[in-house]
Amino acid sequence: MVIEQGWLTSARRVPSPNCDARPEGEVSLLLLHSISLPPGVFGGDAIERLFTNRLDPSAHPFFAAIQGLRVSAHLLIRRDGECVQFVPFRRRAWHAGRSRWRDGARWRAALNDFAIGIELEGDEVSPYTAAQYERLAEVTRALFAAYPALDASRIAGHAEVAPLRKSDPGPAFDWAYWRQRLAARREPD
Ligand SMILES: [Zn+2]
Repeated sequence: MVIEQGWLTSARRVPSPNCDARPEGEVSLLLLHSISLPPGVFGGDAIERLFTNRLDPSAHPFFAAIQGLRVSAHLLIRRDGECVQFVPFRRRAWHAGRSRWRDGARWRAALNDFAIGIELEGDEVSPYTAAQYERLAEVTRALFAAYPALDASRIAGHAEVAPLRKSDPGPAFDWAYWRQRLAARREPD
């Protein structure tokens, strides 16, 4: 996988206006999320609409409840492994909310300043797909190569950094399996 100018060249691009500049330019944390819209329903274009402020509030009661939210993530990995990118990695996407993360000896807030947000399409209880784990591992390896401050010790789930508010990516996300996929190196042909 190749990253050029902050974009994964193989991802479908759906640019979101919900982003701004990273104050320090730092990219040093990978934050994993999950989302489905409406909750528990996979497929469709509602996630893309949410992240681009085009969700129709009359289409579903849940959409009305989240009307006016201005949020985004850098990347969405759909159930079939498709990558949809909304914000270039070098810009700040709006996904972490009130949260904090222990960076070595100090607690840090304002995680969006230096985090990359990846959403897995899921509902926290349905097992994530093999295609999602594989794609996430490929994307993460590409991010490690592009952003040297990122490594396997600088990955967190949203639930970990906002435990009172958030539970994603949820118990369905198999961290051990994913870290194993991440560490796996392809055998040379
Ligand atoms: Zn989240």
